[in-house]
Order: sequence, then structure tokens, then C-alpha cells
Amino acid sequence: MGKGKRFFIETYGCEMNKSDSLDIAVSLERQGYVRTSDALEADVVVINTCSVRRHAEQRVYGRLGYYRGLKKSGRKDRAIVLAGCMAQRLGREAQRRFPEIAVVAGTSHNLRIPLYLSEYQNTKIPVAKTKLGGYEFSRPEDRRPEGHHAWVTIIKGCSNYCSYCIVPYVRGPELSKPSGDITAEVDALVDRGVTEITLLGQNVNAYGKDSGDISFADLLERLDHISGLRWIRFLTSHPKDFDVDVIRRISGLGKVCRHFHLPLQSGSDRVLSLMNRGYSIRHYMSIVEALNRFVGDFAITTDIIVGFPTETDEDFKKTLSVYEEVGFDDAFTYRYSKRPHIAAGALDGEVDPAVAQDRLERLIDVVRRTEDEKNRSLLGEECEVLVVKKSRKNPSEFLAKTEHGKLVACRPTGGRPTADAPAFGPGSFIRVRIEGISGKTLRGSEVLRRYALSD
Ligand code: SF4
Repeated sequence: MGKGKRFFIETYGCEMNKSDSLDIAVSLERQGYVRTSDALEADVVVINTCSVRRHAEQRVYGRLGYYRGLKKSGRKDRAIVLAGCMAQRLGREAQRRFPEIAVVAGTSHNLRIPLYLSEYQNTKIPVAKTKLGGYEFSRPEDRRPEGHHAWVTIIKGCSNYCSYCIVPYVRGPELSKPSGDITAEVDALVDRGVTEITLLGQNVNAYGKDSGDISFADLLERLDHISGLRWIRFLTSHPKDFDVDVIRRISGLGKVCRHFHLPLQSGSDRVLSLMNRGYSIRHYMSIVEALNRFVGDFAITTDIIVGFPTETDEDFKKTLSVYEEVGFDDAFTYRYSKRPHIAAGALDGEVDPAVAQDRLERLIDVVRRTEDEKNRSLLGEECEVLVVKKSRKNPSEFLAKTEHGKLVACRPTGGRPTADAPAFGPGSFIRVRIEGISGKTLRGSEVLRRYALSD
């Protein structure tokens, strides 16, 4: 179908979108398309989009304008595919604004993009498919990991309807992937050299609830038994579904990383209720207490929105105070962005953009200070890290990450690799001593145990 034709993918937004782009790439390759890293030589350009924030959509409009310019000045036959959340939201409207878009493929249609391209090539009539539901998950045998790490989507969609979020409207309700397919996929990935996986979903804790399959904790337990797999991470958790039982079960699993990303969003119960988050600060703190009691040494990161409609300075101070009390390791911080459909759009009490910006900056100061304090407390400590890649800035260094998700720039000790202690490279687990900090990155040296010293 696409024999020898080249495709280029650009991806915006979250990890889910990055994972979807891998699925799109595989579906195109199965039909004979060949991936290129140069958009200018591509026959097909796929723009996998995000709708969560206005700014993300504006960037995509900019890119569509760029490709329109290329079409006018050069090749007329390059096919543009709009995929992802923005494609789902706009549907045919996207083609009315940009007639050069050959295919609009909504979020449930990623794996059918080659089919739609072929339809377009045969008829020259633009295709738009946005019917939600009936997600197709990629097949285990299609997974082609790049390196030691792989994303594994376990649940798609979201049924939560947080009042500020467009995701349920553009991705549809939750749909869990069958647990047997997940274990087969992880088995296949481990056979291909993967040692670390991240389970993905808008709300991984809801896994299995829609389908009656095993629970999220059961799934973790099953994956924990896969030999050759070393680290299991997961993203994103929802505090309302993250309970003491899951935490107790995780505490007995050796491969689940002790790093939890648990979006707080606000420290005010009043704002949380307007956000339709389904939990109180008391519940959130009970999770933190359970993590302390059952897991002990762990990292916790979060997401926070400031400037949500009606948020007062009092509400914002509560957010700062909860942040300090939990002692988060890091946070993604955002200013509220009004989107189509969302319930919060109907709320009165818009926060002055200058006030919201000021709150964001105050929050970022606290985030940076707390992170720095936490990083400093690690100086002199030894820990295991997974080597990710060679540093681009300094070729004698590698970038690695700890179980807690912290980035460490590390140097090999030197010496000659042996059969017992092979040279380290991407995918190796080594022990390092933390010796310094630059910005957000820790600096460390390999502890002398992986090499036999040179004569
Ligand atoms: S849980 Fe809430 S914030 Fe997360 S994707 Fe679902 S609706 Fe959006």
C-alpha cells in the first residue's frame, strides 16, 4: 500500500500521545512505509496533536501553516494526516480551515491511518474519521522497542470528567486492554531487551473496572513475576482510585519503582470539589501516610493547576501549604486554560491572568526550593541507577535515572571490562555515589565494583 513511501511523525502533548505515535508508526511500516526523520523528504506527514491547552493547539496551527507554505512553494503531493485529540475535537472543521489535510484521524483511529491514506490516494477526497470508541490496541508482536525502556498502554480514555479537562470528550470512556495481552506484550518486550516498562493510562488505577478484568494491583503482581524485567513504573494515578490496598500490595513487589506521580491539582477542598476531582485533601494525605507506612523510602511528584475559576489567595495558600507538608520531589505546574466543552468554562469568577501568573511563579519557587533541598539530602548517598544514554554535552558521561526518577549524570570509574563486570552502557544497572548537583541533575560516579582495574 505504501511501498517505499516515506513518513514523518511529529508529536505534541503527553506520554500517551508519544505511545500512540509509536503505534501509528508501526501500522504504517506494516504497509511498507519507511520512516524518515526529515519532514521535507516525507510523502506523508502525521501530526499527532494535543488539545489539553490552548497553546498546544496554537503550535499545531503554526505547523499546519508551515506545511501549507511548503505545498504552495514545492511538492503538491505530500499527504498531511491530523491525528490525536485536536483531530478528534475538530473533525472535518480542521479540513475546512486547512484543505491540505488529507486525513483527519480521531483518537480511536490510529491503527487505521494507512487504510485512510490509501482511500485518499485512490479518490483524492479528504477523509475524516472521528467516531469514538472501539479502540484498537497494538499487538504484542508489533512492539519494536528502541532501547531498554518501553511504554505499555494498559487503559485508554477517561471517565472522570474533571471539570477543567477535555480528555474524556476527545478520548472517550475508559477501556482496559485485556490483561493477557498486556503480559504477552511485556514478555515480548523483555525478549527484545527491555528491562524497564512504564504502564500508561489517563487513570491507571481504574484498570479492569470497565471490563471486569483483574485489578491494577493484580496486574502489577503478575508483571512483577516476569523474569528479565527489572523496573515497572506507571502513569498517571488518580488519587480517588489509589487506595491503601494498592499501596500495601505494591510494598511487597520488588520491581515496582518507589516513585509515585499523584496529581494533587489544588490544596483547597473547595476548589477540588469545583474541579470534580472526587477526593478531599484528607484522602490525599491518607495516601501519603500509607506510602510512608508501607513503602517508606519513596519519591512523590504531582501536577498542580493555579488560577482555576474562583480560586482565592486563601485557596492558593492552602496549595502551597499542602505542597510543603507532603514534601513533593517535583511538580508539573500549570495555569488554568479554558477549553471547549469543559464544565469549568461555565463558572463565573475567572482569575485575573496577572494574578494567576503571579501564583504560578510563587508556586514554581516553592517547587524549585523543595526539589533542591531533597536533592541536597542525597549528597554522599549510594544508589542503583539505570543508564539511559550517553551525555550529549560531555561524551565521557552517561545520563542515568534512579528508581525515584531522578536524573544522574555519571562517570564510569575506569578500568577494563571483564566477563563478570562488563562495560556499562545504555540499559545497564550500576551503583553510583551522588557527589554533586547541577541545576536539576545529580552528578555521580560509578562505585568501584563493576570493573576489574587495569594492570
Ligand atoms: S482524570 Fe481528570 S484530568 Fe485526568 S484525563 Fe481524566 S478528566 Fe482529565
